[in-house]
Amino acid sequence: MNKKKKVFIVDTSVFLSGKPLHIEDATLITTSGVSSEIQPGGRDFRSFELLQEKGLMIESPSKQSLKEMKAIAEKTGDIMRLSSADLEVLALAYDFSKKENIEVIILTDDYSIQNVADVAHLVFQGFSQKGITKRFKWHWRCPGCGKQFNESISICSVCGTEIKTVRQRIQKLKK
Ligand SMILES: [Zn+2]
Repeated sequence: MNKKKKVFIVDTSVFLSGKPLHIEDATLITTSGVSSEIQPGGRDFRSFELLQEKGLMIESPSKQSLKEMKAIAEKTGDIMRLSSADLEVLALAYDFSKKENIEVIILTDDYSIQNVADVAHLVFQGFSQKGITKRFKWHWRCPGCGKQFNESISICSVCGTEIKTVRQRIQKLKK
């Protein structure tokens, strides 16, 4: 049996963590959106360039996958917390998950990326922090009158109090 080729899709949080990224026996890929989130000139940018010299590749996801990941993020409420680069990371991983003989893992410390990844049945791994263990859904609760909202609003339509975002655990991740 052929050993599956391991591919890590790397998000912005990893490049900005300040920790060196040493992964052997795997291909590292990120997206152009992620590379544009790294400010030129700084230390993170220099290590990003160094990683590219060592083989880090930059690829773009398909439009269809972007659409599908966006739809999931809208359902979970993570859409408000994901940049277009974050969505690209998810969509690129989704593209790779359909290829044969490839094991694709999203490397990210972003809880919203991890949450959407889990819903989309994509494998993720935390980099500096332990990943999430429960799948969650965002909802919004008024600290004034207690009314709950399923969509992101900033001011309560009942009493005018500023709304708080609450992370609601919905199920344990299957590991
Ligand atoms: Zn209220």
